[in-house]
Amino acid sequence: MSTQTNPSVAYFCMEYGLDQSFKAYAGGLGILAGDYMKGAKDHNYPIVGLGIKWKQGYTDQRIDPMGKPYDTYHNYDYDFMEDTGVSVTVEIRGLEVECKVWKLEAFGNAPLYLLDTDIPGNNDNWVTGQLYGWFGEERIAQEIVLGIGGVRALRKLGIAVDVYHFNEGHALFAGFELLREKMEEEEMTFEEAVDAVKSEIVFTTHTPIVQGNESHPIERIIYMGANMHLSWEELEELGGSPFNMTVGALRLSKKSNAVAQLHGETSNKMWAEIEDRSEIIAITNAIHKPTWVDPAMIAAAENDGDLWATHLQNKRSMIDFIEAKTGHRLDENNLIIGFSRRAAPYKRSDLIFTDPKIIAPLLETRKVQIVFSGKAHPLDDTGKGIVANLVKMARQYPKAVIFLENYDMAIGRMLTRGSDIWLNNPRRPLEASGTSGMKAAMNGVLNFSILDGWWPEACEHGVNGWQFGDAYENEEDVEKHDAHDLKAMYNVLLKEVIPTYYDNREKWVAMMKASILSTKDQFAVKRMLEEYFELLYKA
Ligand SMILES: *Cc1c(COP(=O)(O)O)cnc(C)c1O
Repeated sequence: MSTQTNPSVAYFCMEYGLDQSFKAYAGGLGILAGDYMKGAKDHNYPIVGLGIKWKQGYTDQRIDPMGKPYDTYHNYDYDFMEDTGVSVTVEIRGLEVECKVWKLEAFGNAPLYLLDTDIPGNNDNWVTGQLYGWFGEERIAQEIVLGIGGVRALRKLGIAVDVYHFNEGHALFAGFELLREKMEEEEMTFEEAVDAVKSEIVFTTHTPIVQGNESHPIERIIYMGANMHLSWEELEELGGSPFNMTVGALRLSKKSNAVAQLHGETSNKMWAEIEDRSEIIAITNAIHKPTWVDPAMIAAAENDGDLWATHLQNKRSMIDFIEAKTGHRLDENNLIIGFSRRAAPYKRSDLIFTDPKIIAPLLETRKVQIVFSGKAHPLDDTGKGIVANLVKMARQYPKAVIFLENYDMAIGRMLTRGSDIWLNNPRRPLEASGTSGMKAAMNGVLNFSILDGWWPEACEHGVNGWQFGDAYENEEDVEKHDAHDLKAMYNVLLKEVIPTYYDNREKWVAMMKASILSTKDQFAVKRMLEEYFELLYKA
């Protein structure tokens, strides 16, 4: 570590997963942001967060009697938020919209400032209604609040900032507000202002799927007033046409990072043709251990304690939890596979069911039991079809397959502690990181996964978990890719995982120990924060 004092950082993110009671997150991006804010507090870093106080948060997704997912929304009020007394205004479609600023520190996190347009008489009080609820103009309106409102809130609160960190392209308009300050208040030209703001901005890129990177027609950005007086040509110079938020952020930052080493390679290939962009380095995500990991498991691994007995307690808690929610009780003596992911096609949640000749006997004899959870995006019918198929399998094999509706942090914690193995089978290289596997690994829940996201960095096959698929990729032929990985999965399951679980408990427990000891420091948020400061913020 350098002895230079640390720069102060303002971190911008649309979502924060701090606690299951605080409905401000949808998935992995928010969990990363929440764990980062808690790590900042634990390790005393000069970081504040900027975000949105969502009135309804993300969908509460339930399953109807026909087995189909449906979305419900509730208004949430919180008593753990402090009113700063500060509000700022932004302009959306030419109308002034007031944003009230709340402060949140209730979850052992560094100070988080949340903007809220739900004020009586406001010109638009629904902007901060639903997280990822809408696309197009409504999404831009939300991003104006986060980015432009966020910078104005920092100014009004008197918080000095050396580095602006955009976690995902959603926050890019903060960069436009910084440009406006330089051009209007310091009378710089556009080129001078771009150089000046670049020295203060860093960016974390996430999805390696092109369509997952938000873009808008330039007309729309100007019509909404997000451009902060930048001209059409200037916008095009930054983000192209249509305007891509990720490209804009890559061009307006001094340095960017991908969220795992493999993801670094994928992102550099993906954005290779973008000129004048910042360098993309790789800083692998990490987790906040006190939130996710049972300290008794780490202690048992470090001090030769009884890992199996400790794990069995976590397994029983999960079985009880599942029984309370579904009425079905899994067998604690038999193998339990955990799987929870957003229902997106590339994650292939139902891959394991592909060949009934192989999987049906394992489920009928309960040699294999599987617990699923995961939501589909409310507007994603394909994702909803995947959830419906998982529910169908749960109804067909009620003693062996469970689907838990409304995936949240409480379910995430239960499953990554109480399962025996943690399955992940994305189409490589489309999983950016996959922090749930880190939670599992540190809890002694053995990863059984494709070599994607973070797993290639940790996996020692047969020692601390298992890989399958041997890093196979096939962009051209999806069917061939799936058939290849399916065969590999069944092979490792039948020849290695099942025999080890039922016939070699000693080896299993040694693997649990190796899993915990090989991941507990490398994938803890302390390492990630050190790398952010050394490789991004101070660079
Ligand atoms: C950990 C976690 C995630 C992120 O996990 P992935 O491995 O990226 O899928 C998402 N949602 C919840 C509720 C979690 O607990």
